[in-house]
Amino acid sequence: MSLRVRHRTGDQALVREINLSLILKRLSDHAALSRATLAELTGLNKSTVSSLVQELISMQLVREVGLSSSGIGRPSMLLELNPGAGAIVAAELGVDFLSAVCADFGGKVIWRKRESTRSLTSQQAILDRLLALVREAAGECAGCGLLGLALGAPGLADRATGTLLFAPNLKWENVPLHDILQAAFPTTPVFVDNEANMAALGETTFGAAQGYDEVLFISVGVGLGGAVVRGGQIVRGKTGFASEFGHMTMDPDGQPCNCGNRGCWETQVSQSALFRHIRSAPDGASGRLRALANGDLDQLSVPLVAQAGRDGDPAALGALDRVAHDLGVGVASLVNALNPGLVVLGGTLSLAAEFLLPVVQAELERRALPWNARATRVILAQHGVDACVMGGVATVIQSILLEPGNFTMPSV
Ligand SMILES: [Zn+2]
Repeated sequence: MSLRVRHRTGDQALVREINLSLILKRLSDHAALSRATLAELTGLNKSTVSSLVQELISMQLVREVGLSSSGIGRPSMLLELNPGAGAIVAAELGVDFLSAVCADFGGKVIWRKRESTRSLTSQQAILDRLLALVREAAGECAGCGLLGLALGAPGLADRATGTLLFAPNLKWENVPLHDILQAAFPTTPVFVDNEANMAALGETTFGAAQGYDEVLFISVGVGLGGAVVRGGQIVRGKTGFASEFGHMTMDPDGQPCNCGNRGCWETQVSQSALFRHIRSAPDGASGRLRALANGDLDQLSVPLVAQAGRDGDPAALGALDRVAHDLGVGVASLVNALNPGLVVLGGTLSLAAEFLLPVVQAELERRALPWNARATRVILAQHGVDACVMGGVATVIQSILLEPGNFTMPSV
């Protein structure tokens, strides 16, 4: 009896998809490149590369940008991702703000808008405003087709369903953000993720963390969000909710946290903590701060406190120093735990970075194991408060680079 062994063979369409993706990723990382260089970089033969490139050009994902002028021999046609393939809208739902950008397929921001939601009192009012802002952003790119829509949200966002399961500082639970956006944009791919994860991706793709494999991202605003990038990928954890560093217990008897615990890191390191320290300053907030806040300490903001700090205001400087110290204590522990090559600070509090980074660096050197402390640098997010929306743009671009076979030209 002959024994016939059945081997699994690669599906041809799958192989083509993988190769299309490979070409797009190389062009995303190194453009502009010739077909010959693409063949060298991918290990594919030249005729395969030519055929794949032709397909990508017909999909309008890749374009020819002119002949190479240097090198030996015949000049060759250079290729790059086609920025005009379509537009991307990325938005952030913050605890007290909304932000949106419209970008091209090359990641260049064409339009941006940020607005406060402090005057909005209900979940529905904020969601209505979010939808209006996203529609406005999409309207800015009317005429070039929408490739995708991404939203970063605070708290536990389930990426598979796009549901915001729990956002303690908004006091929201189980809000189907994906479905809400999808209903408004039925033919556009929609992505929802935690804001810190999205921001870390933004900095890894377009910002300060490019080229770093091991990154700790800390985003401080009303709350404190975190993300870890390992091997260029966001660390997700078993159920997708890793890196909730803001809810590490730092003081078991500390301030109550909106998550239900007490003494979480974000009760010490957040704009709320900063404002609380100012309001409870022993001598009361100074005339300078009150003047900047138009006499109302409920109107404090991070830029305003930073300005007061630059003016030498003691209450502002004291509060900034205390938050910076508490930030540094936590960062030192996380650097010992994770051994990152880079710590990136983003979020609204980063607008006061000049007061924070030196103290964080000093705490890191004082507290972390020297082998870990020496291996890392602490820097500011290049895109600052826009890191999350830039990560949203990166999310949409990556989805197309990963599965170009699913790509269909968006209708205009
Ligand atoms: Zn908490």
